[in-house]
Amino acid sequence: MVPFLDLKSQYRSIRTDIDEAIARVLESSQFVLGSAVEGFERDFASYCGTRHAVAVNSGTSALHLALLAAGIGPGDDVVTTPMTFVASIAAILYTGARAVLVDIDPATHNMNPDRIEAALTPRTKAIMPVHLHGRTAEMDFITDVANKHGLIVIEDAAQAHGACYRDLKAGSMGAMGCFSFYPGKNLGAYGEGGAVVTDRDDYASTLRTLRDWGMTRKYHHVMKGFNYRMDGIQGAILGVKLRHLDTWNQSRRNHAARYDALLAPRGVVCPPVQKHGHHVYHVYAVRIAQRDRVQKIMQERGIATNIHYPCPVHLQPAYADLGYGPGAFPESEAAGREFLSLPMFPELTESQIDAVCDVMMASIP
Ligand SMILES: *Cc1c(COP(=O)(O)O)cnc(C)c1O
Repeated sequence: MVPFLDLKSQYRSIRTDIDEAIARVLESSQFVLGSAVEGFERDFASYCGTRHAVAVNSGTSALHLALLAAGIGPGDDVVTTPMTFVASIAAILYTGARAVLVDIDPATHNMNPDRIEAALTPRTKAIMPVHLHGRTAEMDFITDVANKHGLIVIEDAAQAHGACYRDLKAGSMGAMGCFSFYPGKNLGAYGEGGAVVTDRDDYASTLRTLRDWGMTRKYHHVMKGFNYRMDGIQGAILGVKLRHLDTWNQSRRNHAARYDALLAPRGVVCPPVQKHGHHVYHVYAVRIAQRDRVQKIMQERGIATNIHYPCPVHLQPAYADLGYGPGAFPESEAAGREFLSLPMFPELTESQIDAVCDVMMASIP
């Protein structure tokens, strides 16, 4: 049996540090924000190479607040892709703005920069690239288009903690970068969590105000804000886990290289290699025909897999009112039919990877 993800073995490897960090929060009784969260914000900003990190209660909240801090609201358009987790698009809609979608490039599975200009309208305010599966989007091209048209770039880096585009960290290239610390992410809390990183003092201060009910001091509300604060315990846990992130990401890259070496020669379409920078393989997704059938046979033979994502957001029933029908984004739709995510977590062993590959090859009709 090979699980898709194994969070228990990672906890066991850092248990003493985690248990001590949690005990310190309980002892201090700083359950919401507090010094553990502030410490994590400093460390995470420095890790990302930005001046600020603002910790919040989820990746979705991070996206929502980043868009609001950028001044986006009703009457504005934000450009992103349909091949993402639904939260990227939901966060745009929360602000009252319209989500305008562009297809992915099959060579990267990220937003196709050549298609952005055709999607711009006089209302376009921002571009939200999503670093899908932990591979950074083509940021040079996206930044060029944004600069040419005076648009703000907000990165959805929820799958890309520690990923690099050349030597620039995911999250540090746009005006703001948004992270999720959902437990299964490369840097995961033991509950919900998120953060926005930015170099701009004004954005950071607006984000801090908005996450805590729009207060600048107690019961003095200068904006209509939210309860989006991070828990003290999550800040403490993330502070411990951040110290291991580079090692864990390196393990993921080693596992991806082994999958590539075993699968590519046998004709499997492996994730496109990123030439400049570092993919962090939040997800290792191959593309295969008859995916559903292969997945079912693998499951019967003890290999757990997943699909990120089977149905692009524009074809989800809840988002039909975005106004795009089947065929609107053929590359995203084809990827949704063919993607199969193989087991990927730092503690995966070589013999598990070999077993996944053997079973997968034997399951292809
Ligand atoms: C996980 C994820 C989010 C949402 O993060 P939550 O912490 O679950 O709210 C947003 N965008 C992408 C691309 C994600 O993978």
